[in-house]
Amino acid sequence: MNPRPIVNCDYKSRTSTSPKPATHPLIRYRWPLIATAIVTITITLSLATGDAEAMRSNSATEISQAQQPNIPLALPRNDTLQQLKPVEQTTPLATQPQPQIVRVNSGDSLSVIFSKQGISARQLQEIVALGEQSTALTRLYPGDELRLTVSDEGQLQALQYDIDDAQTLDISRLDGRFQATIIQHPLETRVRHVHGIINSSLFLSAQRAGLSDNLTMKLAGIFGWDIDFALDIRQGDHFSVIYDEIFRDGEKIRDGDIHVAEFSNRKHTYSAVRYTDASNRTDYYTPEGMSMRKAFLRTPVEFSRISSRFSLHRKHPVLNRIRAHKGVDYAAPRGTPIKATGDGKVVFRGTKGGYGKAIILQHGQRYTTLYGHMSRFAKGIRNGKRVRQGQTIGYIGSSGLATGPHLHYEFRLNGVHRNPLTVKFPEASPIDKRYRDDFLAQAKQAMARLALLQAPQQLSMNSAVR
Ligand SMILES: [Zn+2]
Repeated sequence: MNPRPIVNCDYKSRTSTSPKPATHPLIRYRWPLIATAIVTITITLSLATGDAEAMRSNSATEISQAQQPNIPLALPRNDTLQQLKPVEQTTPLATQPQPQIVRVNSGDSLSVIFSKQGISARQLQEIVALGEQSTALTRLYPGDELRLTVSDEGQLQALQYDIDDAQTLDISRLDGRFQATIIQHPLETRVRHVHGIINSSLFLSAQRAGLSDNLTMKLAGIFGWDIDFALDIRQGDHFSVIYDEIFRDGEKIRDGDIHVAEFSNRKHTYSAVRYTDASNRTDYYTPEGMSMRKAFLRTPVEFSRISSRFSLHRKHPVLNRIRAHKGVDYAAPRGTPIKATGDGKVVFRGTKGGYGKAIILQHGQRYTTLYGHMSRFAKGIRNGKRVRQGQTIGYIGSSGLATGPHLHYEFRLNGVHRNPLTVKFPEASPIDKRYRDDFLAQAKQAMARLALLQAPQQLSMNSAVR
């Protein structure tokens, strides 16, 4: 926190309201006062953070289990390595070079980074010559971080790089030669349960319950076919989630997957269980084994507005005569991605009269969708190609008969145009028969666990009401 704005603000307001600033007692003591204010604010803030932490651990119950045993890491990390290294300094008083974090920018390679840090090409060659273990350094991505310890003379003492969550490459200079080791950090998975009640927005309530924004997005994604999170959410709606947290060396590094979740919206409760079948397909299902997804997304363009609805009598804006509009128009800036509304196959890709650049997808036996006026098609989209629901197939444009950039979207059932905004969509396919028994057993267990964890929370909720 930067205290300066407070100081400035305080000072200005005092001088402008006080006729004799120099003798005003508040002004005379302004520095001690300001200092006191800053100390108070800092204490308040840290207390508030402590509070939030306490609430967080209250609202979430950790369940003991670990997919991997929690082995305490015996290997030395950064600072201990530093102490073990031979001292290569001329005077005993010279300070040890400190490791610094270098972030990889786009276009950076190890040689670019080294030359920026004043490390010689010869040292680069020595690192490359380490072979297999240093190959990770040839695949640096923007945003990656290197921890480099370089002496004033440009001599690299140590380099550390996190290859992934579980491995760190550690290169250090020993007796004048580089040595590479890969340090393994066993990952530990902890299962966590969170229950939240919505007071304002889903995001704020989820945050208060201890869910990350990323996980809240996942939660909204799971129930997004049944609940419109922008319109349907009401105060008092509540949710429960059991999910993984991934820990490394005792520190949480990220959230894992949601195993099971429940969302009560108004009077209806939706439940979802994650299941991976033997063919490695993962999806969320209702406890009865129905898909959480629908076969079609309602909207093929995010962040768009409907500029023309389905109508059998509409004056065509370009042709200027009455003509049925057997689709829905979505206005959005040119280049906005257009998504396949369902899993399917490309049966047409090309220019089609007034539709301009258009794509037609076939979904199963009975359904087709058409997307027109595109500016261009997405890479790899060609006739016969399979697409997944939500996959980008092209981009908004105004090719064909169009007054401005928009998507013209049609939905046909057995060859007949239907209004995509109101047609009743079929459910996505339920769990495969082969995996049904296994799924039902797992789902029963997951739901029981959720109920068990929810019980004490609901008890305390009830007692609070009384
Ligand atoms: Zn249209």
